[in-house]
Amino acid sequence: MDVQWYPGHMTKARRMMEENIRLVDLVIELVDARIPLSSRNPDIDALCTGKGRVVLLCKADLADPAKTEEFTEYFRGRGILAVAVDARERKAGEVVRRYIQEAGREKIARDRARGIVGRPLRAMVAGIPNVGKSTFINSFAGRASTKTGNKPGVTRGKQWIRLGGDVELLDTPGILWPKFDNQVIGMRLALVGAIRDEVLDKQELAVWLIDYLEQEYPGVLQQKYLQEKAAQEELQEGEAADSSDQEEDAEGTVFSDPEEEAMLPPGYALLLKIAAARRLLMKGGEPDADRAASMLIDDCKNGRIGRISLDRPQDALKMEEERQAYTSARESETEKEAGKKKAAADRRKKSGEAYSDHSRKNTGNTAGKTGGRTGGKTIGRTGGKTTGRNSGNAFGKSSGKSAGRGRGTKGRNDAGSRRR
Ligand code: GDP
Repeated sequence: MDVQWYPGHMTKARRMMEENIRLVDLVIELVDARIPLSSRNPDIDALCTGKGRVVLLCKADLADPAKTEEFTEYFRGRGILAVAVDARERKAGEVVRRYIQEAGREKIARDRARGIVGRPLRAMVAGIPNVGKSTFINSFAGRASTKTGNKPGVTRGKQWIRLGGDVELLDTPGILWPKFDNQVIGMRLALVGAIRDEVLDKQELAVWLIDYLEQEYPGVLQQKYLQEKAAQEELQEGEAADSSDQEEDAEGTVFSDPEEEAMLPPGYALLLKIAAARRLLMKGGEPDADRAASMLIDDCKNGRIGRISLDRPQDALKMEEERQAYTSARESETEKEAGKKKAAADRRKKSGEAYSDHSRKNTGNTAGKTGGRTGGKTIGRTGGKTTGRNSGNAFGKSSGKSAGRGRGTKGRNDAGSRRR
């Protein structure tokens, strides 16, 4: 299950975030308390350099309180101000206000040293989609706040929400996309509703969840999906003997033979049992694993399985190392890119006129070479794993050269069918 994409709207959101971050003194970084590590964007450290920072573990009401406590301590241990909140509650705002003053203390001291007193602290909220940014801004701002409107000259077009205690909050939150080329992180993000699960295989996702819950919260699934049902049936016994017969039939169809169950991966076997217990059956009466998977995923997203966390505090250090490796790889990539650009610019500068002559000559050569290759290797490759651009080039050329034409057409068909 490989998922990785970064469409245009994500790049745009990041650019907006980069622009807005210049206007603020501190960033309130929202993470999902159920996955406080997986829901952090690794770019945020680089983006927030020199800014104060508060990490809010939102949706703490849905997370495992013991794990949330450990995670909060973990952040604090690393010198990051962190607090767990239910972003829908107004008191979240009150709690956070104190942390904001604390995070902005350095800035206030700097201002004072320069003789500036009373300049409000400017903050922005940032985090991945659906983490609770708008909800938090609403409860934080509350009724007491006033929108300050545009500030000509300084923050044109930006809306600031003035809060008590000399804090101004940018009313446009910074959206950061989670990084999820790591499969497990992708699954955790999908299970809290931070990314759309259509991009993932539902059954695989549900089985991963089952395996995880069986390990971290043993018995929770049985109690919710198997025993609750059994208890209900007991209550209804006698009242609806007919329907309970039907249910027995439904469950009976799962594993009449224990050996059959033993042959399946345990997570998948439990998924089928859950399907049967919830009477999610296919036409022939077989448990419908797909529907059970969808139900389970949905219940998880909405906190119906109970207060669970999908990140584990004991993985924090390892995940932090991965995050840092990613950040330094990205930094060196950016440096390399900048180095390459500079070298290219220097070369261009040196060669001057000669460069354009040379480049004209090159164009001629390339055309010649490609024409020669078109009837051979290039077309062959086009039929394989090629990009649209390659195949387009190859065809443009080959249709002009009769030798390559027939194979070129085949190539196009192949490439087309692969893309479909
Ligand atoms: P945004 O995309 O980051 O702005 O997220 P929203 O503020 O729109 O919140 C997404 C959903 O999560 C909404 O349905 C909110 O009601 C819900 N939500 C936000 N914060 C919390 C929280 O702390 N606890 C719970 N249970 N739900 C929350």
